[in-house]
Amino acid sequence: MILRSAIDSLASVLFSAPCLICGQTLANASRIPICGLCLSEFERIADPLCACCGRPLVAPSPAAPGAEAPAEQRTELVCRLCRASFYAFDRARSFAIYNRALSEAILLLKYEQVTSLADWFGARLAQMAIDAAPAWKVGVIVPVPLHRDRRRERGYNQAELIARSVARRLKLRLDSELLVRIKPRPPQLVLSRAEHWKSVRGAYDTREGMKIDNTRVLLVDDVFTTGATLDACSRALKKAGASKVFGLTVGRVRSGTAAAITMPAGEENPATKLNRKRIYKR
Ligand SMILES: [Zn+2]
Ligand SMILES: [Zn+2]
Repeated sequence: MILRSAIDSLASVLFSAPCLICGQTLANASRIPICGLCLSEFERIADPLCACCGRPLVAPSPAAPGAEAPAEQRTELVCRLCRASFYAFDRARSFAIYNRALSEAILLLKYEQVTSLADWFGARLAQMAIDAAPAWKVGVIVPVPLHRDRRRERGYNQAELIARSVARRLKLRLDSELLVRIKPRPPQLVLSRAEHWKSVRGAYDTREGMKIDNTRVLLVDDVFTTGATLDACSRALKKAGASKVFGLTVGRVRSGTAAAITMPAGEENPATKLNRKRIYKR
């Protein structure tokens, strides 16, 4: 393992390492083994988006000339779920759409030990937090935890690696002990949206004796799929006294219209059946 990473870093110094997504030889020295072309496929999330959960929204039809909406209305678009105070977190944002290139990069970080990506993503998320200041002023950074069995199996928690980079860059405290996943993820790879919500309900708790009264928390995770994970973590943090919870993730699954109406429910509706093809590898 050590030998392999030594060879890898030597190879990247010699500029002959391949891009781990497309296989093209990297044209120049880079801290991450992904070529410029693949990086350019990362699709940043642009306006319009929900001011609360960060969900990309369909652009409103252009207003008639001269009938421009007042500035505060333009900046405070809020999705249907957030208008109903659906999520327990206060704000969430993601770096980019979870498209093919980004999902490949996240899989490299998660399963292929390409941990240099954590710092690259951490730099992007830290910049987003800086751009959102002072509204996103927080006291502590908390990664979404893995269940201990999963953590043992993988050897590391990718969300924690990203969060550590964010904390270092923002000079904030990282607390990876505060939250624990008490309920393991169901074994099947494919979860419908309803199953996804059900699988994380009550799955997280704060470690006993941890006090976070009136603390503002920045939660960090790799992917926002339905928001269920950030929601479940936020509920646990708020139960323990957190005053605000902000969520930052690297990827964001583009939600269809079905996503907005699919609520966690005991029974699947036809809309969630259509989403069965989506694979949530958490
Ligand atoms: Zn490439
Ligand atoms: Zn929203």
